[in-house]
Amino acid sequence: MRYQSTRSQTQPVDLATALRQGIAPDGGLYVPTSLPAFDPHDLNAGSGLPATASRLLAPFFADSPLQDELTDLCAEALELPLPIVEFEPGRSWILELFHGPTAAFKDFAARFLAACMARLRSSSDPVQTVIVATSGDTGGAVAAAFHRRPGFRVVILYPEGRVSARQAHQLGAFGDNIHTFCVQGNFDDCQRLAKQALNDRELNDALHLTSANSISIGRLLPQISYYANASLQLWRELSRPIDVIVPTGNLGNALACILAREMGLPIGEVVLATNANRTLPDYFSGQEYLGRPGLQTLANAMDVGDPSNFERLAWFFRDRDLRTADIHSISVDDETIRQTIRRVDAEHQLALCPHTACAVEVLRQRRAAGIVTPHLIAATAHPAKFDEVVEPLLGREIEPPPALAELLSRPSHAEPLAAGFEEVRRALEHLKHSARC
Ligand SMILES: *Cc1c(COP(=O)(O)O)cnc(C)c1O
Repeated sequence: MRYQSTRSQTQPVDLATALRQGIAPDGGLYVPTSLPAFDPHDLNAGSGLPATASRLLAPFFADSPLQDELTDLCAEALELPLPIVEFEPGRSWILELFHGPTAAFKDFAARFLAACMARLRSSSDPVQTVIVATSGDTGGAVAAAFHRRPGFRVVILYPEGRVSARQAHQLGAFGDNIHTFCVQGNFDDCQRLAKQALNDRELNDALHLTSANSISIGRLLPQISYYANASLQLWRELSRPIDVIVPTGNLGNALACILAREMGLPIGEVVLATNANRTLPDYFSGQEYLGRPGLQTLANAMDVGDPSNFERLAWFFRDRDLRTADIHSISVDDETIRQTIRRVDAEHQLALCPHTACAVEVLRQRRAAGIVTPHLIAATAHPAKFDEVVEPLLGREIEPPPALAELLSRPSHAEPLAAGFEEVRRALEHLKHSARC
């Protein structure tokens, strides 16, 4: 498989190059030049996520140096619990994507990317610097995936005051080869700074920068596999495709779901549940695409006003009308998130994180609109990661899962950083000379 930029058709590259570079030289995002097609009858859902993933991802890895390592890679990175919990009897299910080391779905993709990059590296290569802008969860997942991996350092940029206290603690709790910066700006600033750094020749020469944001194709690909696995399992039971609701910020997770469907998996409509950031709902209701500054909400990992993966989504649908492609988007405001967290706990004895609450509210709205089809909801984080929001609403404590509890028991440190590129440049250049990797 070859990969090209969303912005030009110049010289497609192989997977290894796309993974190493993160972002294409022209500033576009890497996309596979074609999508493989599968017949669900040929796929076995019962074989587990690593097996499903290595089968589905094989065409994407063909002719790359990782081709023969894919099975190992999937076993190493994707062997995480992946429960499908019934929500409305026989009609809707929740796909719990938060049982990895940092209690958010991003663990799957970050671990997969790290496993790929570690295998692409040769021992004589200089130390690579993985730069990652995070709205809260990406940074932790990437840090956990690269922590103490020889040959890599990680630079995390997170927006001050815009992540939960537990997220902030987690981001600064790794130490060793993980460098955490608390940026005086919002997530869009962090993302812009990371992109600028990645496009800066001098910094690249000095630090061998690469990205681990959802702009990396190595994050997008593995996410296809859990939608594939879950939709196949439910298809066996229901004999029909399932509609999927995905809490959406930068559109990485939801795009993977859409790609799974385009590859032939039994997925029906894909519904993008956003918080008060209305860029996608406005677009899918017929308005022009209008990127805008991100608004701060309770579902902070989705505080994105200009989703970076929209460019990829538009590319995949370049010959079709995206607005008639069975993709919908609904915005949920903070007050409704609060009501949903309370209601679902009262009715189902189930605590939701604020992101997953957006998706569950979207299901309620679709049911109220008379849509009776079976649905799958992606649950993107464990509620204990957002205890400041969830606990006061429920009036009880939410126990963190063991891996998260362990991180929270460590000391934590982040360097403050102004939101300017010169400041970032200086901080990065300083790393080059620091004693820590
Ligand atoms: C990152 C994140 C999202 C948004 O995912 P995208 O791929 O950016 O759309 C939703 N929920 C949680 C908990 C997240 O960490």
